[in-house]
Amino acid sequence: MLRNGFLWLSKNKLVRGWVESSAGARRLTSRFIAGLTLDDGVQVAALLATQGIQTALDHLGENVETADEAKSASKAAEKALLNLSEMSIGGTIAIKLTQFGLDLSVEECVANIEPLVKLAKRYGTRVEVDMESTTYTERTLRIVERMQQNHGCVRAVIQAYLHRSEQDVRNLNSLRIPVRLCKGAYKESPELAIADKKGVDEAYVQLMRLLLKDGTDPAIATHDEQIIQMTTAYASEIGLAASGFEFEMLLGVRRDLQQKLRKQGYRLRLYVPYGEAWYPYFMRRLAERPANVWFFVRNMIRN
Ligand SMILES: Cc1cc2nc3c(=O)[nH]c(=O)nc-3n(C[C@H](O)[C@H](O)[C@H](O)COP(=O)(O)OP(=O)(O)OC[C@H]3O[C@@H](n4cnc5c(N)ncnc54)[C@H](O)[C@@H]3O)c2cc1C
Repeated sequence: MLRNGFLWLSKNKLVRGWVESSAGARRLTSRFIAGLTLDDGVQVAALLATQGIQTALDHLGENVETADEAKSASKAAEKALLNLSEMSIGGTIAIKLTQFGLDLSVEECVANIEPLVKLAKRYGTRVEVDMESTTYTERTLRIVERMQQNHGCVRAVIQAYLHRSEQDVRNLNSLRIPVRLCKGAYKESPELAIADKKGVDEAYVQLMRLLLKDGTDPAIATHDEQIIQMTTAYASEIGLAASGFEFEMLLGVRRDLQQKLRKQGYRLRLYVPYGEAWYPYFMRRLAERPANVWFFVRNMIRN
């Protein structure tokens, strides 16, 4: 209920304007968002690298409406890849296809992301393609497959809450496409997605096992401590070394757990967002945890 309320607020233009212009909100976002510029993102990535933590750098933005906006998103992502490579940080970039023109056309989108995949290949890294709402699932997966076929160097994202995900994971495994597994952050209908948390968690564990057993360099993206324990236990059970998979978490979420995993010798990558268009991303993070909401509201009123 609270989660749905916040997801609704994330689309409300009036509330968005108020929050975006508030100095207090900017200060509060710093826990989840590296900053407004690429430099801010790269600095955080460099700091994480000194702690042995990898980065997936995300230039915030989604659902652009013009070809020019999509093109400039592509140029910005190219710059991010270049900076990561020049600083030898060894991170990846994460992209949302609606920021690169998917709402305009598949071909427009491909024209904007293919240069990024080629560049990632040249720099020995990859592009992680985030998964958005179910409006885009099919098109996103087909584009990822096409990029993998043409160049390699991509990672798909699967949302455990979707009923279709088991089939998608099996297909991606057979194509040897690396997958990042997350629970799913968008509001979906019960026809398309599992509605209860217990059901989503069970589906997640099942898919995690499929990925560890048959997948290619899978990323287990969650802050769920119990699922993380089940992942490390299952990896030991099937004899998969810690180097055979990685955990992914979001900047600013469960920092205690992040440190613990590093100390235990597991690979960890943090999703590090930066940029002016922080509002929808920030609202999704608030919606995930009631305690975040009260913290945010209290501070907004205080400011
Ligand atoms: C690296 C990464 C990439 C992602 N990419 C995508 C994507 O492409 N598409 C997509 O739909 N979703 C994506 N997500 C979001 C994901 O779908 C979930 O909404 C989000 O991760 C919360 O689920 P959880 O697995 O942490 O488990 P939950 O059961 O939600 O949380 C487990 C515990 O983690 C902590 N926690 C979780 N979220 C927060 C928070 N915001 N603030 C503070 N504590 C928190 C709490 O302690 C909570 O009890 C991504 C998540 C990660 C980590």
